Amino acid sequence: MATPVNLLELGAGDFKQFLDSFDHVFSDCDGVIWAKTPLPGSSDFFKLIKKYGKTVNYVSNNSIRTRDKYDARFQAAGEPNNTLHSDSRVPEICQLQEESPHEPLDHYEKFVEYLKDDEEIAAVVFDSDFKINLAKIYKAVTYLSRPDVLFLSGTGVFTDLVTEQVKRDPVQLGKPGKVFGEFAMKRAGVTDPSRVLFIGDMIEQDVGLGKATGFKTLLVLTNISEDKMMNHEIKPDFYAPSLGKRPNED
Ligand SMILES: [Mg+2]
Repeated sequence: MATPVNLLELGAGDFKQFLDSFDHVFSDCDGVIWAKTPLPGSSDFFKLIKKYGKTVNYVSNNSIRTRDKYDARFQAAGEPNNTLHSDSRVPEICQLQEESPHEPLDHYEKFVEYLKDDEEIAAVVFDSDFKINLAKIYKAVTYLSRPDVLFLSGTGVFTDLVTEQVKRDPVQLGKPGKVFGEFAMKRAGVTDPSRVLFIGDMIEQDVGLGKATGFKTLLVLTNISEDKMMNHEIKPDFYAPSLGKRPNED
């Protein structure tokens, strides 16, 4: 596997070659455009990329932050919000939301009634849920006991609660699932993954997604040291300590 190249150390010729190697940028947001506050210089980097005729789309699989909050963050960072979210609502999907009983032992009949299967349900989406309870988990298990019911997930420990029970691997809609990369391409009207540069700050999620989908990858070292990156089994094509320093250019 090739050693990651420091983008900021490229000479003008190599930087031109880098620019010629992609037409589209998909970029993660947290840790690339902002941390708690906008990361200095990131906006300038994207302006530079656009100046060379590249399209730039931001991607997020964060289903917790609202669109309004994204808008505010983009505004503070001086960037337009053209985010491709993976949480675009999928119709015909069962979402195990508010109505689940929270005290099953005191409402046994209600609990049993709640857990009844419904043949109309064709898919279960399980993602971050800060109101998770036993009833919701069993409800998901009930539906997913039918093999033809689609199992879609975001990321993280919430989904693991259900996968453990049903012994099925979900179609992962969040990073680093390939479906997420393909979804972003579809939303952006991109057909050739090899002409996409994916920028992110997390090796497993962002670089992993790029590898799974066939994108070129650029890791920003906001949350990982250069040493750790170099010793990681997954390696980006390019890296930069931050996007705040202007790459060499003509
Ligand atoms: Mg991030």
